[in-house]
Amino acid sequence: MTDTIAAIATGVEVAAIGIVRVSGPLAIAVADKAFRAMGGARMKDTADRQMHYGEFRGKSGGLLDICMCMVSRAPNSYTGEDTAEFHCHGSPVVLTEVLGELFARGVRQALPGEFTKRAFLNGRMDLTQAEAVIDLIESETPGAAKNAAGQLSGTVAKRLAPVYDALVDIMAHFHAVIDYPDEDIDDFKMNHYLVGLRGAEEELTRMLETHESGKIMRSGVPTAIIGRPNTGKSSLLNALVGYDRAIVTDIPGTTRDTIEEKVIVGGRLLRIIDTAGLRKTDDVVENLGIGRTRDAISGAGLVILVIDGSQPLCDEDREAFFAVPVGVPYIAAVNKCDLPSAVGNGQLQAMGLNFFRISAVTEEGLAELRNEIKTLLPKVAADPHGEIITNARQADAILRARTAIGQSITAIEESVTPDAVLMEVESALAAIGEVTGSVMREDIVGRIFERFCVGK
Ligand code: GDP
Repeated sequence: MTDTIAAIATGVEVAAIGIVRVSGPLAIAVADKAFRAMGGARMKDTADRQMHYGEFRGKSGGLLDICMCMVSRAPNSYTGEDTAEFHCHGSPVVLTEVLGELFARGVRQALPGEFTKRAFLNGRMDLTQAEAVIDLIESETPGAAKNAAGQLSGTVAKRLAPVYDALVDIMAHFHAVIDYPDEDIDDFKMNHYLVGLRGAEEELTRMLETHESGKIMRSGVPTAIIGRPNTGKSSLLNALVGYDRAIVTDIPGTTRDTIEEKVIVGGRLLRIIDTAGLRKTDDVVENLGIGRTRDAISGAGLVILVIDGSQPLCDEDREAFFAVPVGVPYIAAVNKCDLPSAVGNGQLQAMGLNFFRISAVTEEGLAELRNEIKTLLPKVAADPHGEIITNARQADAILRARTAIGQSITAIEESVTPDAVLMEVESALAAIGEVTGSVMREDIVGRIFERFCVGK
């Protein structure tokens, strides 16, 4: 890794401050060519992480910005390499010019996630911490951010460490037994190993049990808005999202496909799916949309049934209600309460509906609807510290480790030969190594960091 990389680390919009970061062997020398501190100090002589105020000039000598510069030396930097950061005025033009000047001095554009990838490859963080970086950046709720921050501090690897140690212990012993077959494994030791393996299995199970809520934390509770056409489903989506996401018309069948939008209700992330109205139609395209509606309903963690309260209840309303799968929490939003009501409470109660009267247009009743949604959602830890596994890759490897441990327990219980036990323990260790990245294929590592933004 001999090349030096640079990227704009901050957003693309105008802001007070924008940061350009550089990492690699040329970082500090390049900083000294482009930046001159006001007091005349050379960056190569400054202390790590100490900000210096000065001028950033282009190769031709033209002043590009008056900014701050800071360097950190290998191995005590984010990437583990020599790094420099320029804290400039946050104009995208200034930042692009500054970056261009660095390129002119032999630095190349960083790829997505390349700074964090270098941090991982240089042992500054394990893979779960690197993945927490992107989770933290992309977190959409305070809970998700707190969980990612906890994982950034290494909670996942810390929980896996005793499991890993127990497995290494057992592996060492079984290797000895295979190499010296005359040695017996005494019962005391065998029981000790079984206890260790069962403890490891339980810990991995506890970790895996958090993944269901982890998936929801990451992508939101899939929430289907259903109902017959024209009841105001798209209007409700727009009201919840806070802007006109879906097209609203009084022509039935306008929403022919499902539309997805994320929205936070009571601190919880919902992935709201506005569905095509459920109705019988010969329109091929609309029928495809209705098929997707059924898919959305079957995968929903919450259903919002929209009924037009200004029209008498009809069979299509009842059919939509019956489409809600048993066991899935739902709420009926009886919409258009700004218009004269054509549906009495008695009728709604007779259907056994959990209903709220709302107006998607005037927003009357929306606060109550939001409140009810909040109470219907499955509970998650209010203040997570990294214990929730949100990452599917990690969950998959933990599951494989647990399966292998389970098989090693069975092998011991059934007095199978030591090499069979050893094989399972080895594959459990390899799977745990995948979680933290200590055993990892280069192409998989590459794919993980491709998901990052440039500059991170
Ligand atoms: P969808 O087909 O169920 O998605 O219904 P839309 O959201 O497209 O709305 C159908 C029609 O009902 C449009 O003309 C909306 O303006 C109207 N509409 C929706 N919500 C309300 C409401 O709360 N009050 C009134 N008066 N009209 C509404």
